[in-house]
Amino acid sequence: MTAKIIDGKAFAATIREKVAGHVARLKEEHGITPGLAVVLVGEDPASQVYVRSKGKQTVEVGMNSFEHKLDADTSEADLLALIDTLNKDDSVHGILVQLPLPKHLDEDLVINSISPEKDVDGFHISNVGLLGTGQKSMVPCTPLGSLMMLRDHHGSLSGMNAVVIGRSNIVGKPMAQLLLGDSCTVTIAHSRTKDLAEVVRRADIVVAAVGRPEMVPGDWIKEGATVIDVGINRIERDGKNVLVGDVDFASAKEVAGAITPVPGGVGPMTIACLLANTVTACCRSNDLSEPE
Ligand code: NDP
Repeated sequence: MTAKIIDGKAFAATIREKVAGHVARLKEEHGITPGLAVVLVGEDPASQVYVRSKGKQTVEVGMNSFEHKLDADTSEADLLALIDTLNKDDSVHGILVQLPLPKHLDEDLVINSISPEKDVDGFHISNVGLLGTGQKSMVPCTPLGSLMMLRDHHGSLSGMNAVVIGRSNIVGKPMAQLLLGDSCTVTIAHSRTKDLAEVVRRADIVVAAVGRPEMVPGDWIKEGATVIDVGINRIERDGKNVLVGDVDFASAKEVAGAITPVPGGVGPMTIACLLANTVTACCRSNDLSEPE
């Protein structure tokens, strides 16, 4: 059996189209243009690529993009002052601080200084709490995009066994919350998990968010399972720089029922969900009905 390849790139394009439609309506009917502010501190090459791509796609769907590039040695006080200004700026509906931050900056403090209503990454402690208690929140983009692909493929996820490999605050934990919210039986695995292969073999849904190139081989995957590969790893292969996931795609696709590729799976969905979250934040702040 060869797995269905879940086309995140195409799915993301349909989300962007819907977002663009909402943005056009907000402009036409209410004279409002949603705005996303992205703050980048320092010159991490991967972060620079993400920020550029976010800015480009923000503008493409008709929203305002505000980019703030700060020096690597920016003080915490200066960064907090910028966030305060953005919190008070009515033309800014979403604020994203690109992670990771340079070591001298307290990531928790910085994230929690963003107004929760503008926290389109969904990392503010209030949004984490709201998500954990099943209340309306801003949902982190990567897990949200992954859930959308799962729902699209399966319809209902109720009663399925889901294994999330990775317990980070930005991917693993919120992913597990979302799957629980959709009535999966959820296992969260991490670096101390015993016999990971056996744990993964029980899963109808595997979400790999580890950051280790091709760590999950096909023989860990249950026949017909759905595999969401969140990992983005740059490696050298045959003298070339290539991107690979946390799952060994070649062997996993022979066993899985469906699988996301890297690149072209979760990655594009993440940015599309960021744009969708910005429109949602804009609608909420203006007491307008929000997109589904
Ligand atoms: P983190 O490094 O924060 O977390 C990695 C997790 O994997 C940790 O919980 C760690 O366990 C666990 N882990 C590490 N080694 C093992 C192992 N041998 N067996 C089992 N679990 C292990 O990473 P992130 O969550 O931030 O990101 C994960 C991956 O997803 C990365 O490749 C990243 O680039 C990618 N990513 C992709 C995005 C996208 O848009 N597609 C967005 C965000 C991330 P422990 O807690 O015990 O240390």
